[in-house]
Formats: sequence, structure tokens, C-alpha cells
Amino acid sequence: MPLLANYHTHTTFCDGKNTAEEMVQEALRLGFGHLGFSGHCDPEGEGVPMDKPAYLREIRRLQQAWAGQIEILAGLEMDCFGPTDWLEEADYCIGSTHMLRPVPGVTAAVDWTADRTQALCDTYYGGDGYALAKAYYETEAGIADRFPCTFIGHFDLVARFNEELGLFDEEDPRYLTPARDAMAYLVREKGLPLEVNTGALNRNRRSVPYPAPPLLRFLRELGGEILISSDAHQKEKLAGAFPEALRLARAIGFDHVNLLTRSGWRQQGIAELLDGE
Ligand SMILES: [Zn+2]
Ligand SMILES: [Zn+2]
Repeated sequence: MPLLANYHTHTTFCDGKNTAEEMVQEALRLGFGHLGFSGHCDPEGEGVPMDKPAYLREIRRLQQAWAGQIEILAGLEMDCFGPTDWLEEADYCIGSTHMLRPVPGVTAAVDWTADRTQALCDTYYGGDGYALAKAYYETEAGIADRFPCTFIGHFDLVARFNEELGLFDEEDPRYLTPARDAMAYLVREKGLPLEVNTGALNRNRRSVPYPAPPLLRFLRELGGEILISSDAHQKEKLAGAFPEALRLARAIGFDHVNLLTRSGWRQQGIAELLDGE
């Protein structure tokens, strides 16, 4: 059976193309057992602020309307520097690092455009991609100290444009050491699962998911837990590249993924999800 769950789903309440209702219809069509929404909570002044009360009301309405057919969860995708005021109203929270604060008063994302990431690197890190990556991982390591997270989103988003910009070699110790330190802290000290995020793979923007294989291998060595998510911004991508992510996870030595339910985490074997292929 295919993987029939996703916990990283965007809608028109933030930067998605489809309404929450349309995403639910697509999940039902695919036969999903679980669908988690993850509206963005960006720092003030970044993008269009999400109407969080309206978002949570709509997800709660859908949750009730489809109870018994699909388990819907109301999540939030929180940034390191975002507001946390609605956290307690949500069923879960993705801890996602998009932004850096290189100097007080400046907050900049690593995933806007390639040009802006290069400019961020040039302006604040002397054009040194390793310094940019180190700052990113140091920020990310602190995310679960700022607010409680359910799992970590797109762990190595700082590499979003690396295939085109070549800011750093993703196998170089200067890149891997701060990344591993952050991962070890989040996994060992905070006990957090990491998502294997197919969002960029899905949209042909990267050839590998987040985390990239060298970091996914380290996660396996740490004994870390994973879940697969599509970071879907449109319904056609809701289960996009799940088989590729599952095959990669299996090749690296993972034998199960995790499903988030209203009563907690549940494991599902990868062999079963790949139908013994
Ligand atoms: Zn994100
Ligand atoms: Zn997202």
C-alpha cells in the first residue's frame, strides 16, 4: 500500500494554490488516512500574514465534517523568528528554519530566490557559503529551545539553491560539522523526528529531498526517526515523490516511517509501503 498521509500541507490561507477543502478532497481521492495542515507563521512583515484564527476555524470545521473518513490535523509551520501566539491552539507544530537574523533588525530567508540567497551570503557572510551554512545550523539548533516542536521541517533548507549556486560542498566537513551538531542536538537532546521533505524534489527544484543523503545517513546513525512529507502547495503534489523518498530512506537503512495521529506517533514499515518491491 502507498503512504497515505501527509503533515506538511499549505493552502490559500498562506502560500498554497488550493483551499483547505480542495486539499481534503484530494486526500480523500488518494485514500489518505491522515492529513495535516501546516499554515505558515512567518516573522512579522514577511509575506502575507496568515489569518490564523480563520485558518484554525476552517481546519477544525473540516476535521469535524470528515471525521470517520479521514483524520485531519491542524498544524502550524513555525519559523525560528515567527510569532508563537497560536501554538497552543494547534494539534502540532513543525519547527522549520527559513530565516536568519545576521544582524539585529535584519531577518532574511534562505529560500526566497537564488539571487537573494547569494546576496545574503555576500552581504553578511563575506561570500563564504560555509559561514552562511554555519549560521543557519546554529539558528536551527535553537528552534526547539524557542518553542515546542512536534518535528523538524526541511532540515537543510539552506541548501535550497546550492545545486545552482554552489555555495558549499555538501560533503565537506566545514558544511557537515555544524549540520551534524544541530541534528544531534535536535535528535538526542530534544528527541525530535525529522521530516524527509519531498517539496523541492517534487517541483524539480532539487534532485534530492531534505535532508540530502549525507545528512540522512547521519540521522540514521543517530537512531533518529523520520516521517515523509510533501510540503505540498498544490493538490497535485500532495503525495508527490513519496516512493522516491521511501526508497532513499530504505537504502540508507531506515525500516519504518512515522505517522502522526491524534493519539500520538505510530510506526509503519517501509517494506509494506513499497509493496515488497
Ligand atoms: Zn517551510
Ligand atoms: Zn512548508
